[in-house]
Amino acid sequence: MSFERTQEKLKILADAAKYDVSCASSGSKRSNSSKGLGDATGMGICHSYTEDGRCVSLLKILLTNYCIFDCAYCVTRKSNDIKRAAFQVQEVVDLTINFYRRNYIEGLFLSSGIFKSADYTMERLVAVAKKLRLEENFHGYIHLKSIPGASDELMKEAGLYADRLSVNIEIPTKEGLKLLAPEKNREDFIKPMVKVKNEIILYNSEKKLIKSTPKFAPAGQSTQMIIGASGESDQQIMWTSNYFYKKFNLKRVYYSGYIPISYDSRLPQIGTAVPMLRENRLYQTDWLMRFYGFEVHEILNNDHQNLDLEVDPKLGWALRNLEQFPVDVNKADKRMLARVPGLGMKSVYKILQARRFRNLNWEHLQKMGVALNRAKYFLICQSRDFERRDLTGPQLKSLILQNSTSKYQKILSPQLSLFE
Ligand code: SF4
Repeated sequence: MSFERTQEKLKILADAAKYDVSCASSGSKRSNSSKGLGDATGMGICHSYTEDGRCVSLLKILLTNYCIFDCAYCVTRKSNDIKRAAFQVQEVVDLTINFYRRNYIEGLFLSSGIFKSADYTMERLVAVAKKLRLEENFHGYIHLKSIPGASDELMKEAGLYADRLSVNIEIPTKEGLKLLAPEKNREDFIKPMVKVKNEIILYNSEKKLIKSTPKFAPAGQSTQMIIGASGESDQQIMWTSNYFYKKFNLKRVYYSGYIPISYDSRLPQIGTAVPMLRENRLYQTDWLMRFYGFEVHEILNNDHQNLDLEVDPKLGWALRNLEQFPVDVNKADKRMLARVPGLGMKSVYKILQARRFRNLNWEHLQKMGVALNRAKYFLICQSRDFERRDLTGPQLKSLILQNSTSKYQKILSPQLSLFE
């Protein structure tokens, strides 16, 4: 295979992969004990993010952009008139090793269109990971996409070589999927997720008894949803996330603002802005659910089906629940402190630690590095000064907005482009 042809394939297949955002690599503990190549120990591999949070440190490619399916939202769909290409298994192995040696990447993110069948494609994805691990002694990070409908046997093999596995749900609701990808069946996404979840539990419990038990998908599984292609509300999206987190122990759900790529009347038209700010607000909500103890219904419910794009979801919740404030910084429990807009968990722990020794006032909080620009409207402390002064939610919102410019309002950067 000539260098030019490989380069051309790389251009096509890296470009096709850029629409998949589920590539963060945190959480793997694969270590390199001997003379192998690469290391994904501890915090996972090094990350490099674009300003909107996308990870760029992996070689992120498709095995092929041929596909037997015709999902309306996908650039790889069979009816799309684009240049097609496919890598051989060995080509992906060689590229990964070469890029790794040159320090271009810390690992591999490999996805694929579906050629022939789910198992035929999955077999090849697994073969790449297997060769890298067994023949090249590669210990870097590997994230494999699981092909919907792939057999249990292949999913089991995939988990033995990959750090992370993911099946993309793509469209948040069954109705949306039926509209945009009628050939697809939601059960085909669920089946590999169930298998991976069960195998992770099994391997983890075996490892407690037998130390030599191999790791199975040590960085767990994740999924991705496309936002803004099929008209779902934020409430529907976050309930879907909540279901998948709880039911399948997912490590992450990724939200990818739909990039208009076709003149299909079922979809937003070409030229429609990518909903980057909405995507960001969904990530913030996801974070509040996973680390701040919020339930979906507190942030999104029938009265508030979509997130306020002007303010972050914690501030939005606080403005609707002013009766729960102000919170006394010297008395409130961890749960309530974590609900104060502007207080991150680091600040919460600092406050809890510091107040064991003295009553805190505004000066103490400032010295501790607590960001008070929003928090001051929701807190009281020893000094008893309280900034809200009987404002209503909307009044307080406009006061806060006047005093701050959201960094996210400027984010309208185009989709990440690798190798350009
Ligand atoms: S099956 Fe996957 S790659 Fe193929 S058209 Fe649908 S979303 Fe795209």
